[in-house]
Amino acid sequence: MSLFAADKKKDPDEIGNRDVGKGVNFYSIEKEIALGKGLAQQVEKQAKIVDEPVIAEYVNRLGQNLVRNSDAKVPFTIKVIDTEDVNAFALPGGFFFVNSGLILKADSEAELAGVMAHEIAHVAARHGTRQATRGEIAQLSTIPLIFLGGWTGYGIRQAASVFIPVGFLSFQRGFESEADMLGLQYMYKSGYDPGAFVDFFEKIQSAEKKKPGTMSKVFSTHPLTEDRIETAQKNIQELLKERPEYVITTSEFNDVKFRLAALHNKRQIDNKDLNRPTLRKAPGSGSSGDAGSDKGAGDDDRPTLKRRPDQFR
Ligand SMILES: [Zn+2]
Repeated sequence: MSLFAADKKKDPDEIGNRDVGKGVNFYSIEKEIALGKGLAQQVEKQAKIVDEPVIAEYVNRLGQNLVRNSDAKVPFTIKVIDTEDVNAFALPGGFFFVNSGLILKADSEAELAGVMAHEIAHVAARHGTRQATRGEIAQLSTIPLIFLGGWTGYGIRQAASVFIPVGFLSFQRGFESEADMLGLQYMYKSGYDPGAFVDFFEKIQSAEKKKPGTMSKVFSTHPLTEDRIETAQKNIQELLKERPEYVITTSEFNDVKFRLAALHNKRQIDNKDLNRPTLRKAPGSGSSGDAGSDKGAGDDDRPTLKRRPDQFR
């Protein structure tokens, strides 16, 4: 029975027909949604939400499409946070926040979709409340520390370990690899090249190796492990039947990146104006912290499709 369930989890044709969130859980779905809603309200009080309609609508639409192709059984609320940290995090019950820094760092819609699908998988599999149940955490105040770790939050998780027993963190790694496996299936089912998830991993890793601390401070103490990349590649080969074509990126993605880069540049200029006069840089001209944000804006109207190269295997 359990073997059968495990096989179903690995079969993208079974998405939506399998209970990936099954497991010991002190929280009902209703309680989970209420918990997530409360946490989301805290996040929104502290964070700056991007309300530019084109950006907000695009990221929400991209996410909702992934949700439709996932095992998630809760409705999702998806918002963009204005911060350069390369991250995204989904709270229990489907309250999902995507950092603008993640969008700017992604080179294609498929890369962004890969990270978002990973977060959606955490929610679909109810990792948050299952982890809270396993850790027997009674105090809600400790929970945000776990969730705010998001996709890249090794450093934050380390901080959380002050409050959480070591055994608790080892469970987290199991959930992490499960979210990788499920997320790959969701992006694949949505039509994206699952290899983009690996590409993004490798890009962050090599940028961090070249200049530690440039991508994100968290990687200097907790580098992305090779085995995570290898496992993802293995899952792609073994679980996802090769398709003749995949969506790589869209002109909308480039447009949204361009708009976000402009927002970031404007903010940097505004901040500098407080101290001294400064020269205005054109959006995407490569001012500090926005490396790569100016790539390929408005190149093409159609989605970019790619045939999988044979040597990928
Ligand atoms: Zn994760």
